[in-house]
Amino acid sequence: MRAVVFEEVGKRMAVQEVDRPEPDPDGIVVETEACGICRSDWHAWRGDWDWVGVMPTPGLVFGHEPVGTISAVGEDVQNLSVGDRVCVPFNLSDGTCRYCKQGRANICERMVPLGFVSFQPGAFAEEFPVRKAEHNVVTLPDGVDPVEVAGLGCRFATAFHGLVHRVDVTPGDWVAIHGCGGVGLSAVHIADALGANVIAVDLAEEKLAKAEELGADATVDVTEVQDVPQAVKGHTPKSRGADVSVDALGIAETCRNSVNSLSKGGQNLQIGLTTSEEEGEVSLPVDTIVMEEREFIGSFGMPPHEYDEIFSMIEHDKLDPGKIVTETVSLEDVPDVIASMGDYETVGIPVCTEF
Ligand SMILES: [Zn+2]
Ligand SMILES: [Zn+2]
Repeated sequence: MRAVVFEEVGKRMAVQEVDRPEPDPDGIVVETEACGICRSDWHAWRGDWDWVGVMPTPGLVFGHEPVGTISAVGEDVQNLSVGDRVCVPFNLSDGTCRYCKQGRANICERMVPLGFVSFQPGAFAEEFPVRKAEHNVVTLPDGVDPVEVAGLGCRFATAFHGLVHRVDVTPGDWVAIHGCGGVGLSAVHIADALGANVIAVDLAEEKLAKAEELGADATVDVTEVQDVPQAVKGHTPKSRGADVSVDALGIAETCRNSVNSLSKGGQNLQIGLTTSEEEGEVSLPVDTIVMEEREFIGSFGMPPHEYDEIFSMIEHDKLDPGKIVTETVSLEDVPDVIASMGDYETVGIPVCTEF
């Protein structure tokens, strides 16, 4: 079958013929219908996450925002069948550890990321396997368009879990979103749906325009202001600052800007992972965090059981993840789309739809 195959860090990937996957006894194989192309693919391809132990090996197939139809099931799989349509959260769990039992499968002790390690190839391929499938796939409701929900495996779900389950967003709150890439725009749309007033921050005009289209009430163009946190605060009542601020990019500057945009008692939601530049370390105004009782909260993916909340909001027209999908491409285009993410020009979520 055809798949986009990684060879070495920074070298353009290529479509190659590889063996079709076989399901584990407790796994399945999915025929890919759509798969979002994510900044995490670009990070891994550049070797950015060597320092956390995520280093792609030659032969790896990327792709972690898939939607598809089950084409084979292992002999021990009881509750899934060939023909079921599914999406797959990128952080696969074992279903048995203490965090899984607490409903926090997204931080499973033995988490395996889809499409970042050789023993769990991803979905830039005609088919891909899913290990421990009954713990890890989410069955789609009828009538859902695969392209529209192709961000649900990673960016849209990450933004949803963060805003709904990790911080307290109440209607009328001011929520700032720093970085309007795929996850940032998803966060704008979700925060708006939750009834918040949204301030979108970016340096690209088109991304801020897209954020406004998705419900942002105010925007801050980083290239036009001296002090980003002050500009954000200026949009809030009495310049008190944002109740919740999201770093949806993960570079030192956006992380600090996000924390410094907060009101007293405000919550910073850290969604962006850092790059090889920061290697996970960003200096922060700790004394201010202490004296103003601000919070710094991490959020990583979303456990499968929370997907029904998104589907229900989609069904009742509260959310429309399809609005963030801006481009559909074929498998041949995937390597160039990933390589071009270094330019930060991609607006919204590009999705591969032809395999
Ligand atoms: Zn991703
Ligand atoms: Zn677990």
